[in-house]
Amino acid sequence: MKTCLVVDDSKVIRKVARHILETLDFSVTEACDGKEALDACLASAPDVVLLDWNMPVMSGMDFLRALRSSAVAPRPKVVFCTTENGIAHIRAAIEAGADEYVMKPFDRETLESKLLIVGMA
Ligand SMILES: [Mg+2]
Repeated sequence: MKTCLVVDDSKVIRKVARHILETLDFSVTEACDGKEALDACLASAPDVVLLDWNMPVMSGMDFLRALRSSAVAPRPKVVFCTTENGIAHIRAAIEAGADEYVMKPFDRETLESKLLIVGMA
């Protein structure tokens, strides 16, 4: 079973994402900010991280940069979740090491298609 770490400061978003991912046969864990997510990845690397952009304590971008400069292996795929669809935001996310991005709010089909693109569905 593939593992997905859902990182979002919104409990509602984590719940929705968990539900979708479980229907796609993922084993799901959750973190509510980048710091918690980094600790989780250092303890045990998930196959894929679904990552919120704006969070307290440590943002998605700061988490991503820390993850990519860490020794976490195997390298988790990262799908950024954002309400920002500006090309500059997307480019910054990709440059920081994101593999894909998905716009909020996302549905099952959209999320599954992004997971397929990164080879995880
Ligand atoms: Mg947020």
